[in-house]
Amino acid sequence: MITESKKLIHAAVLFMLLVFPLSAAASGHVVVIDPGHGAANKGVTLSRNVHEKDVTLAVARLVKKSLSGVNNIRIRLTRLDDRDVSMANRKKIVERSNADLFISLHVNAGFGQNAEGYEIYYLGSTVPSAKKSNSGEILKDMEQTRRLNNSVRFAQIVQKNVGRVFPRKGRGLRNAPVLVLQSLTAPAVLLEAGFATNLKDRKKLKDEKIQKDIADALTKSIKEYFSTGGAS
Ligand SMILES: [Zn+2]
Repeated sequence: MITESKKLIHAAVLFMLLVFPLSAAASGHVVVIDPGHGAANKGVTLSRNVHEKDVTLAVARLVKKSLSGVNNIRIRLTRLDDRDVSMANRKKIVERSNADLFISLHVNAGFGQNAEGYEIYYLGSTVPSAKKSNSGEILKDMEQTRRLNNSVRFAQIVQKNVGRVFPRKGRGLRNAPVLVLQSLTAPAVLLEAGFATNLKDRKKLKDEKIQKDIADALTKSIKEYFSTGGAS
């Protein structure tokens, strides 16, 4: 016979079993992936029907899918389909998600037909002001340094893993004032996954298998970044 109080206890246990795994997942690391461009803002052209916006979305979706079963990592995309999102709104999504990491995806073009391979951009530190008079400013500096260190650490992990998809073609890490990375509080990188203006790269970027390889390299990098610390 089940008494009323036992029923209550059963209900409470069931409630806890249901809620706790969810809250554990909810407290995991949040990664915002930003598939560049969208809709009429097509980005660079890879063929008549394939543009930068298609490749960035395909790769971002694949990363989200691969990590959907990973308990402590949650992936949010700045767009889920073929729509354009303003730069300000992309940044808003990063801030509102309280992101631990931000990855913007693009495809390169230009510098002649021989330029090939990926590039990874991160935002270098702004020049620190000469005098730090209060603890708030010092704290802000420490936060910026930590953010930069983590951005570089993640960029290095991506370089190693994406380098396997585009062997010996890495154009390296670049510290540059990239607009979409500016004024974010999360560590952030921008991956230019190959050149649309290079014949070999263009072929690779349109290849669904290579898109999956790029996504796998990013998935691996995200897992590695959070398992090697310093990324609370
Ligand atoms: Zn782009």
